[in-house]
Amino acid sequence: MSMKDTENRPEAEKSGEGEKKERNFIEIEIDKDLAAGKYTHVQTRFPPEPNGYLHIGHAKSILLNYGIAKEYGGKFNLRFDDTNPTKEKAEFVEAIKRDVEWLGADFEGRCFFASNYFDEMYACALKLIRKGRAFVCDLSAEEIREYRGDFNHPGKESPYRNRSVEENLRLFEEMKEGRYPDGAKVLRAKIDMSSPNINMRDPVIYRIAHESHQNTGDKWCIYPMYDFAHPIEDAIEHVTHSLCTLEFEDHRPLYDWVVTECEFEEPPRQIEFAKLYLTNVVTGKRYIKKLVEDGIVDGWDDPRLVSIAALRRRGYTPDSIRKFVELCGISKANSSVDYSMLEYCIREDLKLKCARMMAVLHPLKLIIDNYPEGKVEMLSMPNNIENPELGSREIPFSRELYIEEEDFMEVPPKKYFRLFPGNEVRLMGAYFVKCVGFEKDADGKITAVHCTYDPETKSGSGFTGRKVKGTIHWVSAAQSIPAECRLYENIVDEEKGKLDANGNLNLNPHSLTVLKDCRLEPNLAGAKAYDSFQFVRDGYFCADCKDSSPEHLVFNRVVGLKSSFKLPTA
Ligand code: ATP
Ligand code: MG
Repeated sequence: MSMKDTENRPEAEKSGEGEKKERNFIEIEIDKDLAAGKYTHVQTRFPPEPNGYLHIGHAKSILLNYGIAKEYGGKFNLRFDDTNPTKEKAEFVEAIKRDVEWLGADFEGRCFFASNYFDEMYACALKLIRKGRAFVCDLSAEEIREYRGDFNHPGKESPYRNRSVEENLRLFEEMKEGRYPDGAKVLRAKIDMSSPNINMRDPVIYRIAHESHQNTGDKWCIYPMYDFAHPIEDAIEHVTHSLCTLEFEDHRPLYDWVVTECEFEEPPRQIEFAKLYLTNVVTGKRYIKKLVEDGIVDGWDDPRLVSIAALRRRGYTPDSIRKFVELCGISKANSSVDYSMLEYCIREDLKLKCARMMAVLHPLKLIIDNYPEGKVEMLSMPNNIENPELGSREIPFSRELYIEEEDFMEVPPKKYFRLFPGNEVRLMGAYFVKCVGFEKDADGKITAVHCTYDPETKSGSGFTGRKVKGTIHWVSAAQSIPAECRLYENIVDEEKGKLDANGNLNLNPHSLTVLKDCRLEPNLAGAKAYDSFQFVRDGYFCADCKDSSPEHLVFNRVVGLKSSFKLPTA
């Protein structure tokens, strides 16, 4: 099948699941809501806090929210949840926007900030006070915690709970005016101190923080709490289905309480799904920050990380991430997915898209003694055996080549079919060569291999005279170009597990191997950032977006060729 055909087939068919895709539990709930007339449209959002880079788990949330909106002909908003003035940075806003766009989740310019709704949130708080549903409380944070009780003990009501509406309005106004220091007072919802759900025990909804905010500057010294702000943000934007991860399940009654008591029409509905966890990868902001600070990785986009920026730099494509998220599915139960499944997805994606090129990562000189000196022959090679649409290209062949060090052994072990004295192999796409000698330096290191070639055996000539068991790849020494290749392994030691007894990461000392003296066929000279290729026998490689230049090519290995992952058969 050609690439064009694949592109035009419907999503479900492409993933091999047939026309009828099973509906996930979120779609089933939305169908019910629409059938019951609860909503007349469907709208979703992705609400990141701008306090770090997005990772593969966020990609699941982004693609889920975007996919649902698209499926129902609705809107998908990007909304920065920037209600906390202390932790957030403008730098992350740009990075997050870029990642969401790159994933193809089109928010059509609807990029909002929760902080732009501070006036509305304040108005909601006043409304609650007037309804007798919120009160200003002078207990300290510690006292509030004590009064709250726990799973086995009901909470105790605050002595400030029954202040009059007038007094609450006055005190809240004074909080806003900056009359009190941080922590002196909070605004709390008046719900139920004996509720079995601790989130409903008069939760704090506004706190004092004399901090400048990146968007609103010094306008506010009181800030809304997440559980109060989030439902209001959703309601203001007319979000219908607020999809979030499981840890918010217990907060749902509070979410519903807020949108009901604030009297929003068509109140949004929260639905929770399981987070995506990958085994043996680091996604926690705290750990990544430390890896960056300790200089173990080269920034948040180091190709060993699984931030979206890192995956992009490594050579992952939006298609491969979409495919991965699709394979993971949407569920209500937390589980971990193996990293090899992500690798499977990028391998499948690149298989038909990339040209297969000749690259020698550990070069060893090969001299063909009977090949004319100075002669350069251009040999034609198919770009992708499985996808003839990618055409073919010419590669120079000459008397002196580079082959992989491991493709020659002075004393071969059993079943070694590559070069050793007296043995004949095929040079891929070229001729049979027979090893007639080698050179060694003073340390016993092999520095060159000598061969003779048989002109009768040229690839494509139909030669059937005799067979060889090994085929090795090569590049022409004089025409080849230098490059640096970076090979990656998991950043944490898979054998030992992610964390040691002290909660520190068990780092894999071999997570990065830098090969500085690789030789590539000259057709790779024009490789630009993010261009991907298959390097014969070595895997898929992508030109590095930070460090690669025409003068100094740098490639990241995206993934090797062999897979340990098998797609489960239905
Ligand atoms: P923090 O610890 O700072 O809260 P976070 O990963 O929850 O980190 P947010 O910016 O709050 O970061 O997340 C934005 C959205 O992405 C939320 O709706 C959250 O539920 C969702 N999300 C976060 N991690 C995952 C994950 N591993 N899988 C799926 N969705 C996730
Ligand atoms: Mg969060």
